[in-house]
Amino acid sequence: MRTDLHCHSTASDGIHSPRQLVALARRRAIDVIALTDHDTIAGHAEAQAAGREHGVRVIPGIECSALGGQGETHVLGYGVEPTDEATRNTLLGLRETRVSRARKILARLAQSGIGIDFARVQKLAGDGMIGRPHIARAMMEVQAVTSIQEAFDVFLGEGKPAFVANDALDPAQAIDLIHRARGVAVLAHPGLMRGNVDVLLAEMIAHGLDGIEVYYPDHDAAQRTHYASIAAAHGLIVTGGSDYHGLTPEAVHEFGEIALPAGCIEALDARIAWRRANRDRSAG
Ligand SMILES: [Zn+2]
Ligand SMILES: [Zn+2]
Repeated sequence: MRTDLHCHSTASDGIHSPRQLVALARRRAIDVIALTDHDTIAGHAEAQAAGREHGVRVIPGIECSALGGQGETHVLGYGVEPTDEATRNTLLGLRETRVSRARKILARLAQSGIGIDFARVQKLAGDGMIGRPHIARAMMEVQAVTSIQEAFDVFLGEGKPAFVANDALDPAQAIDLIHRARGVAVLAHPGLMRGNVDVLLAEMIAHGLDGIEVYYPDHDAAQRTHYASIAAAHGLIVTGGSDYHGLTPEAVHEFGEIALPAGCIEALDARIAWRRANRDRSAG
């Protein structure tokens, strides 16, 4: 069975629509995909309808951006199917929240006479959450400031003219949100993270993390072994995927290129069912 549990559509920053992605999965003989757009579930309905037509199983997912003590953390959610309106609206609005903060900052910079193109900031942010460092770099490009530090000291820092408070989730809040949406929470690509990932991982496990994305194109054998052993020690599931966004000069990973060991999908399904049973019991 071929699978890809990590991919992006035009609902976030992928180049294929949810429908095109599912059609592509069919052509590549991928049986199961999880649509894990950044900070939104807006692509689910289209992907699942296309999945029914093409005979591809689509697991509704998300990749939530969180800010921890050590920078940006991505938390994958699988089986994300909120039944309450408030959670659904939160999941639909997360991405917009990220974008609207950046737009507010740019509007304030414009009032200070600094014109920054939103599209340029988005490009600098790439796959990551749009943040002030990207805006600072765009400000350097237009020679409004000579350094990132100056951008923060004069414009972007707290109390400065273009400051807008950050309302990003922290990793624990991302886990809670995914659980509220009846999904399971998996730490994405720990090998890409900076800082002491094992400390953060221990905190996330204590907070109810369900799994670790062990299989990822940029993880080497040592990283796979390390994270698989942590997962085994704590009874967590392991997942994997290509993080496919469409092929571009910067993104060269092919859809479906990551092979998962036998039993991963069954373990994921069992974990989703277990979370749901606990949640529905506690909610009822
Ligand atoms: Zn990511
Ligand atoms: Zn991703």
